[in-house]
Amino acid sequence: MIPQSSPVSAYLRQRDVIDAAIRRVLASGRYVLGDEVRRFESEFATAHRAAWTVGVASGTDAVELALRVLGVGPGDGVVTVSHTAVATVAAIARIGAVPLFVDVDQERYTMSPRSLREALECTAGRAKAVVAVHLYGQPADMPEILAIAREYGLPVVEDCAQAHGASVDGRPVGTWGDLGCFSFYPTKNLGAFGDGGAVVGSDERHLNPLRALREYGWETRYVSRKFGVNSRLDELQAAVLRVRLAVLDDDNRRRRRIAELYDERIDADCIAKPRRFPGAEHVYHQYVIQAPQRDQLQKALADLGVATLVHYPRAVHQQPAYDDESFRPVALPNTESVVSRVLSLPMFPEMTLEQVETVCAAVTRCLR
Ligand SMILES: *Cc1c(COP(=O)(O)O)cnc(C)c1O
Repeated sequence: MIPQSSPVSAYLRQRDVIDAAIRRVLASGRYVLGDEVRRFESEFATAHRAAWTVGVASGTDAVELALRVLGVGPGDGVVTVSHTAVATVAAIARIGAVPLFVDVDQERYTMSPRSLREALECTAGRAKAVVAVHLYGQPADMPEILAIAREYGLPVVEDCAQAHGASVDGRPVGTWGDLGCFSFYPTKNLGAFGDGGAVVGSDERHLNPLRALREYGWETRYVSRKFGVNSRLDELQAAVLRVRLAVLDDDNRRRRRIAELYDERIDADCIAKPRRFPGAEHVYHQYVIQAPQRDQLQKALADLGVATLVHYPRAVHQQPAYDDESFRPVALPNTESVVSRVLSLPMFPEMTLEQVETVCAAVTRCLR
């Protein structure tokens, strides 16, 4: 069976350096917020041409803490998409804030600027921030989204959990809005071997408040001036992430190469392949097609030894926890139509040419 993703392949490819990094941390005696985290934060910031990075415990925490630092509190509206990982919305809910869902672009799968404007016009004053998601590795339309948010005086958080290394007009995602949030869950383009996350920014005013928020609100050790949580990136994960960050660009190049092969060699008119947009550098966290009779296709591919996944079988507003009319200021027709059609083909940097060809032949055969 060709797996849909394969974090263990990433480990095996770099086994010696990863093992050495882990042994170094174990022997150091320092396991939380030490040198490895400091160095990773600095290297990750440099890779983004950003002023700073703050490591946290997960991507969900990154979004939550970013919103808190921007002043979002209980009852505030946060505009985001419903076609995303539920984590984006869980982060909003955890603050006691209210998600306000807007629709996605049918081909880009990211926030529709037109729907954003419509929602802001009809929710007058309720919205306090916007969270744009770069889904599947495809950058959202940041210039448009930022222009609209600025018109309404709203800060913008970027959820980059699926888009490490993606860029728009040469500028990395995560540095367009006020704060950029990353997850290092094992299957992401930059994955740890456990949980991890980070917030990237360039406004110095947010740096110390974020550092305090991730550690009990400490202004200095044992002095909590404000509320804070425990959300720290640990030394083991940071050491692994430093090794993996060094090959992120290579990994993303491999993902793009696999995507090109899928583009060229899957021969079926009835499916929609991922589109490219001017200036947007896609990093193919997922290669997502839209197919009629998606569920049958998924089953037929499994019978031919090709594992696929659906991201996501339900939009967030279709899940019991978030099925609330007050979360839906506008209609979500594109969101509701893509959930029944999307299918994520196998995609990981270590895929062999032979595996890629097997997938292409299988998809072509199933759709004939
Ligand atoms: C994975 C993911 C998250 C959450 O990250 P965790 O590290 O699992 O908390 C948030 N948003 C998106 C779009 C994701 O894909």
